[in-house]
This record gives sequence, C-alpha cells and structure tokens, in this order.
Amino acid sequence: MSGCLTIDLGALGRNYTKLSSILAPSVTAAVVKANAYGLGAREVTTTLYHHGCRHFFVAQLQEARSLRGELANDATIYILNGLQPGSERTCVESGAIPVINSLDQFYRWRAEGRLQKRRLNAVIQFDTGMSRLGFSPDEWAALKVALRDQVDVEILFIMSHLASSDDPFNPQNADQLAEMKRVADEFEKYGICLASSGGAFLDLKYHGFMVRPGYALYGGSPVRQLPNPMEPVVRLDVAIIQTRTVPPGTPVGYGGSFITARTTRLATIAAGYADGLPRCLSSRGAVYFDGNRLPIVGRVSMDTIIIDISSLPKEAVSSGSMVEVIGPHQTIEDLADAAGTIGYELLTSLGNRYQRVYR
Ligand SMILES: *Cc1c(COP(=O)(O)O)cnc(C)c1O
Repeated sequence: MSGCLTIDLGALGRNYTKLSSILAPSVTAAVVKANAYGLGAREVTTTLYHHGCRHFFVAQLQEARSLRGELANDATIYILNGLQPGSERTCVESGAIPVINSLDQFYRWRAEGRLQKRRLNAVIQFDTGMSRLGFSPDEWAALKVALRDQVDVEILFIMSHLASSDDPFNPQNADQLAEMKRVADEFEKYGICLASSGGAFLDLKYHGFMVRPGYALYGGSPVRQLPNPMEPVVRLDVAIIQTRTVPPGTPVGYGGSFITARTTRLATIAAGYADGLPRCLSSRGAVYFDGNRLPIVGRVSMDTIIIDISSLPKEAVSSGSMVEVIGPHQTIEDLADAAGTIGYELLTSLGNRYQRVYR
C-alpha cells in the first residue's frame, strides 16, 4: 500500500446538489470521463444518480460501455469524442449517445440507423472557437440539409465547449457565446449545452438548457480568481516507510540533486511519480503533517519521495505515520501549482496503487 486515497462521496453528492440548485432550471449533467477524473466512475456515477443526476458524459465508447450496466435505464450516457469509424454498431448496442462532431460522423450514424431501421439519437457539437471538436461554419449548410429529413436521426440538443471559462475576464468567453448564438439562430429547434465547470460560474446566459460540469463536482476550483465554492472530495495520505538523520553535506535522492545544508531529519514516503505525484515536484513541493509543511527534498522517485521532517518535534513521526499530500492543508490546486500543472492532470494521474476508501 502506497497510501490512502479517500473519496468523500457525501461531499460529491452535496457538490452536485449545490450546483444543480444554482443552475436550475438548467439541467445539471455530470462529466465522468477518465474514470470520473480518476476517482472511480462506478462509485461516482452511482452517487450522482442517487442525487438526481440523469445525464453523464464520457469521452470514449469504451467508457460508456463499462458504465452502462451500472446505471438505471433512465440515465443517459453521451460520448464526447464522437463516433469513430467502424464503431457504429457497438455504439448503438452500448445504448450511449454519440456527440456527433462532423458531417462524416453524422452520415455514418444515419446510415447505421437506416441499416437497423431505427431512429437513433444524437447530440451535435459545434466548434465555436476552440478548434478542437465539432462542426465548423463551412459544414453548417450541409448539416442543415441533412437535418431536413429528420426521420433518421433525432437530435436531442446541440453543444459546444468553452476554451477559457476558468477565467471569467477572458474575452474569449463572450466571443464563443456570440458564436453559439449564431449557431442557435441557424439551428433554432434545439436546446443548448455550452458550459462546463467554469461556465457554470459565468453569467446565466452561458447556462443554456444543460450544463456539464466535471472538475467542480470533484471539489476542484472552477474559477481560479475566486474562493472555491465547492467542498473538497479527495484526500490523499501517504505512509512514511523510513526515517533517518543525516549530517550537513549529504546528497539526497537520485543524482544527489539536493545536498543538506545542516543536520537534517529525513523521511521517505511510499508514493512517487508512478502514483501520480509528478517528478517536477522534486525539491519544490511539500506534504503536511499536523499542519506542518514538510518540503520535498531531492528528486521524486518512481515509488518514493524524500521529505524534510526537521521541523517536527523529535518523536512526532515514525514508520507508518501518514502525511497529507492532498487535504485540508494542501488543495489539489496548491499541489498542482507546485508541480506547474493543473488539478485535472493530478487527479487523472493518481494511479492504482492507493488504497481507495469511499466515504
Ligand atoms: C472535460 C469536458 C467537460 C468537463 O469540464 P470541467 O472543466 O471538468 O467541468 C465538459 N465538456 C467537455 C466537452 C469536456 O471535454
């Protein structure tokens, strides 16, 4: 056991309830791709379902297939990455709804429906300025023609994705909203789904018919300039597996990249970059014990990290003591900042070697 990853499903449920009451009357969906941001898709979706969530977004067909059996029939799963060539039959069988991102995907979905003599559901995504997924304006006309014969494919709603909604002052938000309005004027029958976690905290006009947060549900801070309104969901504690005292001038870790300046008490903890604690935390990040900051010294190894425990009272820790990596003293954002990345990347990298405790 390298550590203990505690996932507070109660907090997750309260975050969902809070968001959906802020966002009502818009529907609050949940993005549960990448194993629900590393937290466990099965546990997360079941909890959200019990709190009233009926719309779940994943990235890939494979994710939809493994979730389908966990969810009651009144829950809908959408596949953000769209309909890959050759996967049409499997997609129908999965019961999931593809987000159609191009004309080619639309035509293949329609053909599959004709083949199976079924009217298939779909969501259409438009690119409104991120240049990632979705229809571009030069495809609108052909799409309109294709949609005119509505017998084959039923469009449930239309969507797009905001590139900069974690920053409410970024003008790209308004640009994308304006572009979405243009789309809505062309395809006026359909409800709009535009906002993810960041967009949920932008003006009401970004909310549309459905909002699809992920990160905020998991306790991540949706807008960096503001205090985080969400409850923390994740806590990570890692065990100390050895301690020692070394004299000044002692090299620590791979490459001896850190050399002690004074007599130093060190502890080795049982998690490393294979457990999702990035190597770039080497001699930069810290962990906590009883509120004391314990700096990471030397390189992060694959399975271990060395920390400086000199600031602790003599007998405060020993082998088996747990230190806090993510928790009340260090948010996901704090740790991500130290690593020069974002909390999303940390969460989805956490790895499989932790004992997972769901509360
Ligand atoms: C990942 C993703 C989301 C969720 O984003 P969060 O910032 O985690 O809320 C929503 N929509 C799309 C298209 C995504 O790729």
